[in-house]
Amino acid sequence: MIYPIIPYGNPILRQKAAPIEPGTDLQRLVQDMFLTMDAIDAAGLAAPQVGISGQLFVVHAGPYEETSNSEPKNPKRVYINPTLEILEPNTIIYREEGCMSVPGIYVNVPRSRRIRIKFFDIHWQEQEEEATDLLARIIQHEYDHLIGKLNIDYAGATMRLLLKRKLENIQRGKVQVNYSMRFK
Ligand code: ZN
Repeated sequence: MIYPIIPYGNPILRQKAAPIEPGTDLQRLVQDMFLTMDAIDAAGLAAPQVGISGQLFVVHAGPYEETSNSEPKNPKRVYINPTLEILEPNTIIYREEGCMSVPGIYVNVPRSRRIRIKFFDIHWQEQEEEATDLLARIIQHEYDHLIGKLNIDYAGATMRLLLKRKLENIQRGKVQVNYSMRFK
């Protein structure tokens, strides 16, 4: 099943997501989130964006990575109940970020180049990974979703003013996207 995406304005995107009960069978949910991520051409998708307030997100950096032919591209990943650690707090890179829940809006977001993430995998095994560059950026973006934060929160005061109308339009469902969104 391909989920419709929850748009900006829905309070679930501003809540701190609840930890998922260890042992919960998440196979179906994760499979559907992978399907949805592929269908809407996203590099990542967090549970609150499909209407579930749980600490889970999926990431697929591969299609968006610039790597040489010999380098393997990053496969799809799932992160459950993650904790994030910034490894290079002084190496901050700015890059424009979009979000499927905030269509048509791109914000220059500062992210740490290197992170470490501890999480559970789909089999509830504890895992730990380090990530750099694009993968690190996507993970930080999706992790933000679990604490109720969005790309627009990184916009400066002037840009926020400029975005006001656009955000109101998203809330009213006045947006054109090529994927389905669930407005109230
Ligand atoms: Zn997002």
